[in-house]
Amino acid sequence: MAALLLTGGQVVDPANHFDSPADVLIIDGKISAVGKNLSTPKGIEHFDARGKIVCPGLIDLHVHLREPGQTAKENLATGTAAAARGGFTSVVCMPNTSPAIDTAGTVALIRERAAREGVVNVFVTGAITKNIAGEELSPIGGLKRAGVVAITDDGHCVQNHELMRHACQYAKMFDLPVMDHCQDYSLVTDGVMHEDYWSTVLGLRGWPSAGEEVIVARNILLAELTGAKIHCQHLSAAGSVALLREAKKRGVPISGEACPHHFTLTDAAVAGSGKFWNADGKGLAKFQGGELPEWPKYDTNFKMNPPLGTARDREAILEGLADGTIEILCSDHAPHCDYEKEVEFDYAPFGITGLETELSLSLMQLVHAKRLSFAELIAKFTANPARLLNLKKGTLSAGADADVTVFDPDAEWIFRAEDSASKSKNSPFNGWKLKGRTVATIVGGKTVWSEKSELVAA
Ligand SMILES: [Zn+2]
Repeated sequence: MAALLLTGGQVVDPANHFDSPADVLIIDGKISAVGKNLSTPKGIEHFDARGKIVCPGLIDLHVHLREPGQTAKENLATGTAAAARGGFTSVVCMPNTSPAIDTAGTVALIRERAAREGVVNVFVTGAITKNIAGEELSPIGGLKRAGVVAITDDGHCVQNHELMRHACQYAKMFDLPVMDHCQDYSLVTDGVMHEDYWSTVLGLRGWPSAGEEVIVARNILLAELTGAKIHCQHLSAAGSVALLREAKKRGVPISGEACPHHFTLTDAAVAGSGKFWNADGKGLAKFQGGELPEWPKYDTNFKMNPPLGTARDREAILEGLADGTIEILCSDHAPHCDYEKEVEFDYAPFGITGLETELSLSLMQLVHAKRLSFAELIAKFTANPARLLNLKKGTLSAGADADVTVFDPDAEWIFRAEDSASKSKNSPFNGWKLKGRTVATIVGGKTVWSEKSELVAA
């Protein structure tokens, strides 16, 4: 029998409305009990969690693991190692790989490899359209039978509304949520950063917020028309949040997610660290202390899709997270090789890594900034994504898989991209002082990462 007792932590389990000091007993990979003075088997291993938060293993439902075909950027072993360091026990990988995950065979390949090489649970999504080309539907029923938890063309967006309508009808039939990367190609054209003051100053091609909002509105209408659950990925614009808020009030089966970079940074960051810290980053600069992290203008680690918005967009996303309009937090972890990013801003690929910084940044911007309670924040990383994707995860109920995250909400540390477990180092938060850090990540009762093992390894 393998048993572990986590003692003295503040246990926060939003799925069970539990938030109290307690012990968590794990036996043979399952949660056995949560409570005080638990009777435990003799010789059981103890983990001292005093002063820490103990919660259901965190889920990141938007991660690019780059398998198959792009393993110079990341693979299942390195991507899941980064997830474990970040406190994530489950990740959901996107299908925009090479080839795309658009057949049952590719789904089976990823699931097999993930079981062998991954250190955390990997759930797979399938493409909405064949080769993510937006022209012809993938075999959605076959993908479902092969085990996908959702369909998405992430990285791309189905432009043909009739095709999207059919995708929604099939998804509804097979009880699959549709996750959508909201980008209207005719409005965005070849934009590389948010269209506003800074794009003009920097002479970069602009990407108007309407390029996202139009598709969010389309998705609301299609969710209403078909009854399919549509989930809008990585929301970045104030208008998108307003649309979502209004639609949810009417009971439309629509939802949204936000990523830490969109509610921490703004488009001013593309003009360099000086411009950012002196204006939109003022509030954050105080916590950084004397030596502020520096980066040049046109730094491609600040290029992502959708792009960073204005301070008003950032505030709207924070408000949407605070009032429950946006129910899910995720990273959109998008690793790229140095040589791909070390080019002119126009030519660099979109995307940044995020698994190892997202919990800290979310704690800082939402809990430490007093916008959300611990329970509300943790729900956005556990119960809420589990509900959307019908995963039997995200809870510490007796009998559940013993996926547990332990974190110190007050630990201050400096993130160094070079120390990352990811194969890629393309993070805009390199050198940032962060508050809140994972202490241990437990998957199926097994500690897959802990601060202690890290110290020993060093
Ligand atoms: Zn995307």
